Amino acid sequence: MEKLQFKAKGSGLELYTINIKRKDSGQITITCNCMASFKGLHCKHRIKILSGDYSLQPNTKATKEKAKTLESWLVNSELKKSLDYYFVCEESFQSLKSALDKSKKDLIKIMEGK
Ligand SMILES: [Zn+2]
Repeated sequence: MEKLQFKAKGSGLELYTINIKRKDSGQITITCNCMASFKGLHCKHRIKILSGDYSLQPNTKATKEKAKTLESWLVNSELKKSLDYYFVCEESFQSLKSALDKSKKDLIKIMEGK
């Protein structure tokens, strides 16, 4: 089993630790020590690291090596496929949310004769 560790921050000030393990079978598991992850819920800290946001890691050669290793683990993995699909859904959701917000504003304008 191989292991990697990263730090990530959400909207607050707290710094979280992301632990990534890869089994010999290629299975990758990722944990974060935030409350959402602890409860088995989606957490943005893990997504940040998986999407290549290493901004909170020290700017060293070791960090670059770790990032490279993680990226190589993700190639053709079940995790990467699931992550890519998540991003497609997230993008569709944001696009629909914008359209809904605009339609509400347009509707109000018409209702109020503006
Ligand atoms: Zn987290």
